[in-house]
This record gives sequence, C-alpha cells and structure tokens, in this order.
Amino acid sequence: MRIGHGYDVHRLKEGRKLILGGVSIPFSMGLDGVSDADVLIHAIIDALLGAAALPDIGSLFPPSDPAYRDIDSTVLLRRAADELEELGYGITNIDCTVIAERPRLSPYILSIRENLSSVLNIPMEDISVKATTTEGLGFEGEGLGISAHAVAIIHAVNK
Ligand code: MG
Repeated sequence: MRIGHGYDVHRLKEGRKLILGGVSIPFSMGLDGVSDADVLIHAIIDALLGAAALPDIGSLFPPSDPAYRDIDSTVLLRRAADELEELGYGITNIDCTVIAERPRLSPYILSIRENLSSVLNIPMEDISVKATTTEGLGFEGEGLGISAHAVAIIHAVNK
C-alpha cells in the first residue's frame, strides 16, 4: 500500500461557475483557473499521482496547453486513475477536506461523493468528502478563495 497527499487553492471570482467534485454548486462566484478550476478534484488528482510517485497535475496536464482550457476536471481525474491502473494500482480509499467560508457545502457532499464514485469506479464508501470553514480567518475565511486537501491510499492489484 502507498499513500499520497494533494493540496490545491483557487481564487474565487465573479462570473465563474462553482464546481466542486464535478458538481455544479449555486453561488454568486466561482473558482478562477484554466480548467473548470475544480479545486477538490485537483487535490484528489495530486493525492493519487503522489501515491504512485508520478509527476504532479501541472506536469501531467500543463495549464499552458490549450487542450486544458475550460476542461472538465473529472476528465483529468479519470485520466489520472487510468495512469495508476496502467502501473497496476487500484484505489483503496480517498479522504478529502474542502475549506470554504461560503457557500455551505453540506447539502452537496452526497452528490459529490456519488459523482467521484462513478468517475473513479470505486464504491462511495471508499470516498470521504468533508467541508469546513476557517472561522473567518485567512484567505478562505475572507472569501477570497477555496482550498482542498486530499489523501489517497492505493494498492497493487493482482492480475
Ligand atoms: Mg488547481
């Protein structure tokens, strides 16, 4: 078994859709970035790649490449999972935390877990998603951005 960690931050901006874990969340602002800026999926991708000691998300999917402009991050997540499969790894479980002062994410956690489960083709019970605020402190607390942490355990699959 191997463990990996991922962390990502995106800035909140008006005129963008807020997408977390591939789920569109109603809010007055969205995350800014080259792709759909799904900070949660980006953290998960880096946790998975890190567990396999593969190059990070920016190396695998360079933001300078026009192919990734506005791309749905679930596509990137699936590709990262495919990379792991090619190396003979399966995903044991994933745990992640989204840090956002607003909006309140608890109503969307189940949908996010269901979505990640279908993209990764692993049971929902093996995917934990949590959300917290920082009590108004720091950039997340001031509503300037949203961050996400993820850890993933992967295992060698016997073929
Ligand atoms: Mg990112």
